[in-house]
Amino acid sequence: MAAKKSKSTRKPARKSSRRSSVVRAAKPVAAHRRTVVPAPITPDDARTQLRELAMNLWWSWNEVAQRPFAALDPVLWHATKRSPLAVLAQVSAAALSAACEEPGFRLALADARAALAAELARETWWGATHAKKHAHVQVAYFCSEYATHESIQQYSGGLGVLAGDHLKSASDLGVPLVAVGLYYRHGYYIQQFADDGSTKVLYPVYDRATLPISDTGVAIDCPVGHSTVRARILRMDVGRTRVYLLDADLPENSAEDRQLTEGLYKGEPHLRMRQQVLLGVGGMLALRALGIAPSKIHLNEGHAAFAAIELLAEFRAGGMSHADAVDAVRARTVFTTHTPVAAGHDRYGVDMVCEGLAQTLAKGGISREDIESLSRENPADAKEPVCMTVVCLRLASKVNGVAKLHGEVSRAMWQKAYGVRTAKAVPITHVTNGIHTPTWLDPHARAFWKDECGFDACAPTPRNKGWKRAVDADPAAFWVMRTTLRAGLVRFARERLVRAAERRGEGPLALDEFANALDPAALTIGFARRFATYKRAPLLFTDIERLAKIVGDSKRPVQFIFAGKAHPRDTGGQAYARTVFEMTRHPALRGKVFLLEEYDMSVGRALVSGCDVWLNNPIRPHEASGTSGMKSPPHGGINCSILDGWWPEGFVAQKGAKGRYGSGTNGWAIGEADDGAFNEADAHGAGAARDTRDAESLYTILEKSLVPEFYDRGRDGLPKKWITRALASASTIPDFFSTHRMVAEYAEKCYA
Ligand SMILES: *Cc1c(COP(=O)(O)O)cnc(C)c1O
Repeated sequence: MAAKKSKSTRKPARKSSRRSSVVRAAKPVAAHRRTVVPAPITPDDARTQLRELAMNLWWSWNEVAQRPFAALDPVLWHATKRSPLAVLAQVSAAALSAACEEPGFRLALADARAALAAELARETWWGATHAKKHAHVQVAYFCSEYATHESIQQYSGGLGVLAGDHLKSASDLGVPLVAVGLYYRHGYYIQQFADDGSTKVLYPVYDRATLPISDTGVAIDCPVGHSTVRARILRMDVGRTRVYLLDADLPENSAEDRQLTEGLYKGEPHLRMRQQVLLGVGGMLALRALGIAPSKIHLNEGHAAFAAIELLAEFRAGGMSHADAVDAVRARTVFTTHTPVAAGHDRYGVDMVCEGLAQTLAKGGISREDIESLSRENPADAKEPVCMTVVCLRLASKVNGVAKLHGEVSRAMWQKAYGVRTAKAVPITHVTNGIHTPTWLDPHARAFWKDECGFDACAPTPRNKGWKRAVDADPAAFWVMRTTLRAGLVRFARERLVRAAERRGEGPLALDEFANALDPAALTIGFARRFATYKRAPLLFTDIERLAKIVGDSKRPVQFIFAGKAHPRDTGGQAYARTVFEMTRHPALRGKVFLLEEYDMSVGRALVSGCDVWLNNPIRPHEASGTSGMKSPPHGGINCSILDGWWPEGFVAQKGAKGRYGSGTNGWAIGEADDGAFNEADAHGAGAARDTRDAESLYTILEKSLVPEFYDRGRDGLPKKWITRALASASTIPDFFSTHRMVAEYAEKCYA
């Protein structure tokens, strides 16, 4: 290793120009690697230092900060789902003392501390380009769920993953943003499959002491209905981004009020509405109590709409007229809508909402009529309930969908609310979603791009032009990387399958079958997402005989791995999960189709890195964006997807070969792109013909293009065309479909 001096022991570089600080910001963390072994350390001091590291979730996307915990006890590290605090709580005193004697451990600890300290002191993209012009910018981001790491079960799916990735990119770019949410005692449910494929729903109670969440010592009294709910403000540090989570599970609250933060998307509408009062109104009050004055509030989905109502009440209580107060709120509010599915937009009776917000409305002198006009698509329709999305549309000046197509669909969907003559005139734009690459990228893949193409795939900059060079990677080296990642997934899946089978009490033969399941050399196709019905998890099984032929060819083996959770009350989604479970046992498919339990961030990471192909077959245009498919190309994976959500923007069609087995240059497109008109009926059974058509297209792609291409090997054993396609996928997709680009876009268009 080069004998470079640690950066942190050097004097800070002089800021000679703005430019140099940008360049400095882009340097990878490895620059902090020390070569001088740090002095001895006592176990008590080590514990204190490790705890400090563990309390900032920066470790969740920076391997350098995970290393000391892994070094402390590698077995515990994996057994705790890589939770630093859980490792610290469980590690034996003997193991900790022994580690302190090890130069390697001390080095890892010192490196991690230096890297975090440097990160927190770093100049940033935002600082270099925006801070002077927009020194007053302070964003408060509201969301009902945040997915930051698999050991923190405070999320259900895509919305939470996107929000977590947003916070991390804000931290990497240095965008001044704090986040507001709720802390759920039970989190979201844990999924297990019973022997008949039905879902068992488990709600564990989490011990907050093992989570990197601290108590600020500040509490608020939030008016909910006619009473007051006390909530303490917890704090979670995500790099440079602070997240404030409200917790109402306090002895001074009534049993009913304590339920407000019991679980995520749990309970009937009345509880859900009150939960949203706590999130929105309580969230604003928490910011006030902490002395934070946001210049913008970003409502990520309609759940937090009441934050804008609280803001309105504050302006009106300060003496503004209703019209002026509405304008003032609009000037400060950004709203992102996340689904074209009607059931995804909360609607509550006007009475229920006026009761839930009674004290807030009284404070601002806001009338029932004001609420009606702010929350109905057609304010004159006395039967129309309050729609949380409409509240956001009326009270935000910046409104966006999460992909280009979703922007279009949203304009048509909400035209009535705006009372304009054409959908084009609806002022809803789009900011396409992305992923936080450092969170999702496997270390092998990161090292591969660095070694082969000379760029850091995790550079903390809005765009990363290095990806363009992916096409230059050596095909043989690329195939070694793919083989390594696929083998890693096979190991991961076997362990999960065996564990689930053991729990179901299956015998040694079945356990043996799972222990040797999956072929590390076979074409591996993944499908993992929430089992919402519009995502059509069972579409692949439309014609079992035809599928059996595809997977059963011994010269060209194909295997599928599924994972996904459905909301406990979504009976249709639960039935889909069961169908997939049954298919894994179908005599014609057994050993070729697998289903993993408990789809979470770790299962997701293993699948997106190991699968050769990422399958996505929703009913168009019901997928607002989807992000799991964006996680595959940085690993050399290829998307095969309906042209829905983000895919129309990512897919590059082949010139002159339009529609030929859906084959583009960087992936496959299932089905025809229809007009994209939104049709609610399709989601509920009227789309049988569409299902048949899309399944037909999927089978044809598999038979005529996808499977043959994977097995078309040259004399060197490499699938040349396949590799060309995979490298095209890596060179065209990850640069744009990243939350670094997305957050920069929000910063420039909406926050500044
Ligand atoms: C990426 C991800 C999602 C989002 O996936 P979609 O493609 O939007 O369905 C949901 N859950 C987990 C665990 C993820 O990692």
